[in-house]
Amino acid sequence: MPTLGSVKSLDRVSHKRADADWLAAQAASDASRTLLLVDLKPAIVSNAEQTQAQLRWLPHAKIAALGLADWPRHFMGLDPAQVPHFAIAITEHRAIATPGGPFSVRPYVDLRTLAVQGQLTPEELSIAGAARALTEWHSNCRCCGHCGSATDTKDGGWRRKCFACGKEFFPRTDPVVIMLVTHGDRCLISHEPRFKDIQLRMFSTLAGFLEPGEDIEHAVRREVMEEVGLDIGEVRYQESQPWPFPHSLMLGCRAEAKTMDLKLDPAEIEEARWVDRAELAIILEGRHPEHLTLPGKHAIAYKLLRAFLEG
Ligand SMILES: [Zn+2]
Repeated sequence: MPTLGSVKSLDRVSHKRADADWLAAQAASDASRTLLLVDLKPAIVSNAEQTQAQLRWLPHAKIAALGLADWPRHFMGLDPAQVPHFAIAITEHRAIATPGGPFSVRPYVDLRTLAVQGQLTPEELSIAGAARALTEWHSNCRCCGHCGSATDTKDGGWRRKCFACGKEFFPRTDPVVIMLVTHGDRCLISHEPRFKDIQLRMFSTLAGFLEPGEDIEHAVRREVMEEVGLDIGEVRYQESQPWPFPHSLMLGCRAEAKTMDLKLDPAEIEEARWVDRAELAIILEGRHPEHLTLPGKHAIAYKLLRAFLEG
């Protein structure tokens, strides 16, 4: 059983990806390391308590032994020792159907679960998230959106090109604004209808996709007005977080409301309430009398709430 080692950090060396000869040499290198994903779930190793996990990188010889030497792979980057790292994605059906094959190196764990539980470092979550997002993008971009012909993989999995018309396609990232709405010493938390299956009373901050032509501030003001009917004054960007399910980038903001008069859109928000810092602290500590809960430490919503709590 492998043990936890040093955390991976990769340089994507994007300027090298277009060099097909260089990339082929990296893929053929005995030193290369490869991450397997089965049905989008990365192979991991955990500590005995299963509170910490790392991505499981397999050596070149192991990939060959699993029958995957010629399998298409995504180039993920070089580590500080210039060792090339790749990702190979296969289906669970194939993994199970090959005796002694990829299923022999399980567990494969759902990446969203790993993210929510905070088991991977941000660096490894970023690598696995990129591999997952690339895999989904490839499966959804096999045909040209312009002429309908087949597309081919280029640049180690970071570009596709149409055989017929030559149009190029690149992996997409969808920006999402996620904002903590404040009014003086209170902030707004809300409960969405989609949380209804969760037993505990889950609340969070507001969020929504940016639309074409919008800047971040406009999207924040529009989403807040649509969801809870509040007019927003100042909008400040705080921090961002990749959320590769399938390919979002969360843009965390603080938005100061001009009033506290809520007008909810029931399709989006079931309940919203203003809480002061004392009540917010009690919810975050898990001892609210109504059992309200908020997202965990590794969610950007938590970071927005924590920053407000700490003034
Ligand atoms: Zn085309």
